[in-house]
Amino acid sequence: MLKGHIAVVTGSTSGIGIGLARALAAAGCDIMLNGFGDAGAIEGIRRGIENDFGVKALFNPADLSRAEPCTALIEDAEKRFGKVDILVNNAGIQYVSPLETFPVERWDAIIALNLSAAFHTMRAALPGMRGAGWGRVINIASVHGLVASVNKSAYVASKHGILGLTKAAALELAGSGVTCNAICPGWVLTPLVKAQIEARAGSENIPLSQAEEELLLEKQPSGKFTTVEQLGALAVFLCSPAADNITGVPLTADGGWTAQ
Ligand code: NAD
Repeated sequence: MLKGHIAVVTGSTSGIGIGLARALAAAGCDIMLNGFGDAGAIEGIRRGIENDFGVKALFNPADLSRAEPCTALIEDAEKRFGKVDILVNNAGIQYVSPLETFPVERWDAIIALNLSAAFHTMRAALPGMRGAGWGRVINIASVHGLVASVNKSAYVASKHGILGLTKAAALELAGSGVTCNAICPGWVLTPLVKAQIEARAGSENIPLSQAEEELLLEKQPSGKFTTVEQLGALAVFLCSPAADNITGVPLTADGGWTAQ
């Protein structure tokens, strides 16, 4: 369905980003991967996508916490692939602490990556999409774009911010053939969440399995994690003709978290 399309997926060396990249590749996209990690493991992810889906996958290690590398990532994709049709802003980090003692450098880092990076990559990629008369921007926000939780001030602010950016872009792009939407997952079992399960197990002195169950049941009524495959399928849907007139929306996949 998406054969011949080029997708840039930020933060695609781990967790949700790998799921998004593989789902878009399965639908026919060539992929620009990005993120941090062990070089051998990243090469395994890249080669796995090429072998499993018969598409081309490249990797760019840009640190998206600064403006210039965000722009350079898009320019690199345009140079090596010829264009960027789909931009998925997925790279994100978390830090958990009461607001009064929240480290200032953690606030700055979270806002820089979870919010500003998406502005910079969109700013660089949108002219090409607009010129082509077709494009898709998918911002991976969170339920924390819609509701808050304690001790996550920077994350909640960044995710509310990215929903605002998504809506503003959707209005500016309306009628151009380019849509901009957000996906808002609840809990997904990735390294980002495993760290929070480990922290809970440590602070409450309980087994990891109990910490995982408590974390889920506290917020996510389904009692089940959203999977990276489900999120990948949502991204592919947003790139399909069925979603041509869907723009500016937060699409939740949260097992009922925000229905409460
Ligand atoms: P993860 O920690 O598994 O992956 C994060 C990715 O971002 C990695 O590839 C990492 O290398 C990359 N990254 C980190 N800093 C970077 C930087 N400065 N520049 C470029 N890349 C960088 O996390 P995840 O759970 O897969 O989260 C992915 C996105 O989904 C994040 O935006 C997160 O906020 C969001 N999200 C996650 C959950 C969840 O439950 N896991 C829920 C809602 C939203």
